[in-house]
Amino acid sequence: ASDEDRAELTDGYHLVVDALKLNDVETIYGVVGIPITDLARLAQAEGIRYVGFRHESNAGHAAAIAGYLTKKPGIALTVSAPGFLNGLVALANATTNCFPMVQISGSSERHLVDLKQGDYEEMDQLAAAQPFVKAAYRISRVEDIGRGIARALRTAISGRPGGVYLDIPAAVLGSIMPAEEGAKTLSRLVDPAPRQLPAPEAVDRAIELLASAERPLVVLGKGAAYAQADDKIKQFIESTGIPYAPMSMAKGLLPDGHPQSAAAARSLALKRADVVVLMGARLNWLLNHGERGWNPDAQFIQIDIEPKEMDSNQPIAAPLVGDIESVLDALAERTKPGQIAAPQAWKDELAAKTADNVAKMAKRLEADPHPMQFMGALKAVRDVLRERPEVYLVNEGANALDIARNVIDMQVPRHRLDSGTWGVMGIGMGYAIAAAVESGQPVVAVEGDSAFGFSGMDLETICRYNLPVVTVIMNNGGVYKGDEAPGGGSSDPAPTALMSAARHDQMIEAFGGKGYRATTPAEITAALTEALAAGGPALIDCVIDPSAGTESGHIAHLNPKGLGNFG
Ligand code: ADP
Ligand code: MG
Repeated sequence: ASDEDRAELTDGYHLVVDALKLNDVETIYGVVGIPITDLARLAQAEGIRYVGFRHESNAGHAAAIAGYLTKKPGIALTVSAPGFLNGLVALANATTNCFPMVQISGSSERHLVDLKQGDYEEMDQLAAAQPFVKAAYRISRVEDIGRGIARALRTAISGRPGGVYLDIPAAVLGSIMPAEEGAKTLSRLVDPAPRQLPAPEAVDRAIELLASAERPLVVLGKGAAYAQADDKIKQFIESTGIPYAPMSMAKGLLPDGHPQSAAAARSLALKRADVVVLMGARLNWLLNHGERGWNPDAQFIQIDIEPKEMDSNQPIAAPLVGDIESVLDALAERTKPGQIAAPQAWKDELAAKTADNVAKMAKRLEADPHPMQFMGALKAVRDVLRERPEVYLVNEGANALDIARNVIDMQVPRHRLDSGTWGVMGIGMGYAIAAAVESGQPVVAVEGDSAFGFSGMDLETICRYNLPVVTVIMNNGGVYKGDEAPGGGSSDPAPTALMSAARHDQMIEAFGGKGYRATTPAEITAALTEALAAGGPALIDCVIDPSAGTESGHIAHLNPKGLGNFG
């Protein structure tokens, strides 16, 4: 085509980028290859930031957590079949965690795929994605690009947020149409995530139940953090005086250490509470399905945008279906002054237990054994982060996750990003990269050595984009522990063993980042302080006692028990 013709024509690539821009997409996380390389190039040229990864799962996890942090769908871009499947892990994880995300994947020629003729990277991706996502769509005609992207974005962000798969065959990307007609096919979403208000009678039912409670408790979940209704949540908690327990990613919604926090008296709070408000928290395995450890007579009020969530584990006495901000507005509006007030005896009971447990923890943290244990190492991290509340904390591993969650306090909402609903390993570098890209703030990723391995190659991405990410590895040389003997006299390492002599600090040096090796808490403090001050990519390999840690961290009870004696 001549230049004049080109000016009057557009193609699938341009329409995709135009549709994304029209809907305020600012960043794409992806891995290029056939057929989407030109799409990434064009996006970058047109002013969308493209962050290129080394593995699609990590790009996908980045998009997912970007969605959580910004309340806008995070976008991941993948190639056909294997790249698509790698990304699908993250899309499924996003769906499970209720994070808004769209995975856009190129795919092979429809007619070859459908007759299974054996195309390059042949796969029926739409069918493959379907069971794992909130919705899966395919754009089959160039003139449907605008509609397809609008539909994917709205589905991801409205109602309960989740992962959406959008399939764009190579032929559609390459299709050409008149530019003027093409522009008319695009649209900008109006009110992409409409408010959802609870009915007044549902609000009154909840208020009456709460007003009658002797031992009320609020459980704050990551849905509450996602809602970005921080001031209203604080207002509700403080004006009612109700003690609250934060789920891990809700830490910081109110600063840990808040006088109403029952985090350090969680077992007692769950065992004794008679009316429980679940605010953006599901009664799933993380809360023992409302069974083990709970008061069997507890009555539940659940605030959730998803009506189907009600009664999924325990009967819900007062369902409040709506978005958290609207529900809190309605509660504030319909509660009479002083009608809801947590009884003092209950507050005192929890405060006494909290003081007790905090003192016990302080004592355990005082110990500074050598070789270094998880506690000592994480206390050093905690002390540095205390001075830097703006730092995002990414956290995964078994012991590295469970112990850091208890030791490291959060002061600011949405700053703790962790393994979440699945307890998945592998989110580390993806979450860290997106947190840095989306916020411009420093990030510290506290990683078990095993957990780190799932995404470690994207250290190169951190260095290539020169991001302020400090990866801190709790290196005990193993999955759970690093001191297990091989079974049955085998000459192979034990299934849980990793290389205890591994020098992760040297990995980042290969990409031009700064590596540190720390064998004492004091060395961790010095390294982390220096790395955060430098503001660039760094990695601290913390040498932890290989015998430190417990099998499966705090969830060992989830391992099925057979006859035993497997060693
Ligand atoms: P946690 O793991 O922290 O307990 P979950 O992921 O189990 O949290 O629960 C989050 C819940 O929050 C989900 O059931 C989801 O439907 C809900 N949710 C997400 N966003 C909102 C919102 N804006 N308003 C109300 N509920 C929400
Ligand atoms: Mg380990």
